[in-house]
Amino acid sequence: MTYDVAVVGAGIVGCATAWECARRGMSVVLLDRGEVSGGTTGLGEGNVLCSDKDAGPELALTVLGRELYGELEELLGAAARIRRKGALIVHPLAETWAAEPARAERLRAAGVECFMLDGAEAVRAVEPRLTGPLHGALHVPGDLQCDPRAIARGLARIAAEEHGAAVRTGAEVARVEDGAVLLRGGERVAARHVVLAAGPWTRPLAEGMGIALPLEPRKGQLSRFRLPVPDAEFLKHKIVDGSYLLSVTSTGTAREISTVVETTYDGHVIIGSTRERSGFDPSVDLALEQEVQQRAARLVPEIATLQRDDAWVGFRPWLPDHLPAIGQARDGVWIATGHEGAGVALGPITGRIIAGALAGEPPPLDLSPFAPGRFA
Ligand SMILES: Cc1cc2nc3c(=O)[nH]c(=O)nc-3n(C[C@H](O)[C@H](O)[C@H](O)COP(=O)(O)OP(=O)(O)OC[C@H]3O[C@@H](n4cnc5c(N)ncnc54)[C@H](O)[C@@H]3O)c2cc1C
Repeated sequence: MTYDVAVVGAGIVGCATAWECARRGMSVVLLDRGEVSGGTTGLGEGNVLCSDKDAGPELALTVLGRELYGELEELLGAAARIRRKGALIVHPLAETWAAEPARAERLRAAGVECFMLDGAEAVRAVEPRLTGPLHGALHVPGDLQCDPRAIARGLARIAAEEHGAAVRTGAEVARVEDGAVLLRGGERVAARHVVLAAGPWTRPLAEGMGIALPLEPRKGQLSRFRLPVPDAEFLKHKIVDGSYLLSVTSTGTAREISTVVETTYDGHVIIGSTRERSGFDPSVDLALEQEVQQRAARLVPEIATLQRDDAWVGFRPWLPDHLPAIGQARDGVWIATGHEGAGVALGPITGRIIAGALAGEPPPLDLSPFAPGRFA
């Protein structure tokens, strides 16, 4: 048979795309070389954040993406583990704090509710364990945390069970050609449209079709620390050090550390985060982990005493202009990747945009900044 759509990659982007296409009545095959959501999806903290952005196309997309989480919660229920706990961008440095009122205005203008908490006492009133020195914080109550792996799996399951999509795991796409994908092993899967959503591994598939996509993996390391008694309220919010705002949008190759800390759904503490363009190097750096723990302990001193449980790395799909590539790249070939550290926030809305474009629906925002052809 010839499918309407073959989606390559079953991370949160591919699963959302498959579900959105299938529920619009398209025949869909979702292909992954491994498991559903066995790639980058599920290796992060699962945050959906407007608070770490600034005015521009990524924020506009994130506002729509965060709204969509209400629908996902209705669809998937408790399995999505959505916690609307809000985020605090905290400022130990006077310089970053001085710039925050203007950014808060820009966030509000984009439709993001946020509040300035002036001084350490005001911050501690909402997050008592932040006993390190602080000038203040930006509070964004609508930001949330979820379980991206469960969401991707849930969408793939509903696409298959309710809308007839074929979900094929252990199916590695070796190459794309006009009207088909070729699996490793020789099988040809015919499809009128192919959506490349293979996360940080998308580049060779695109380049094989002559599509320029300067995508690179941007490595991130996270660590989990155990609380003696699990307590999901140990920290009530996602805590982000204000210096993170400088790191997310930088284009350098040097390793960057910015402190993010929060409790997990099961009541332990997760600390990050690092950014490094060093290829697909899967090693965990223990010295780096210690440094990250020390930095987090400057904000939340109790963290210095916690016992390490685990650490891991993942690879964010990074494009040089820090915007994802979403849309048609050539006849019958679509790109949906490059979401870097915001693919959980942006995955579901990306799926909706791709499926909507295939179905001839009007786009929900100006898509020109995300055009895959901008790297040609
Ligand atoms: C440490 C860290 C923390 C993060 N925290 C957050 C966060 O809090 N919030 C947020 O929004 N984002 C976060 N991110 C980013 C987010 O995880 C990614 O942007 C997102 O998961 C990308 O999803 P994806 O579906 O594009 O890719 P992936 O989840 O990587 O899925 C791609 C899939 O393609 C498959 N594949 C690859 N090549 C082939 C092939 N040739 N044939 C078939 N299948 C193939 C892979 O097996 C994989 O399953 C974080 C990332 C990291 C590393």
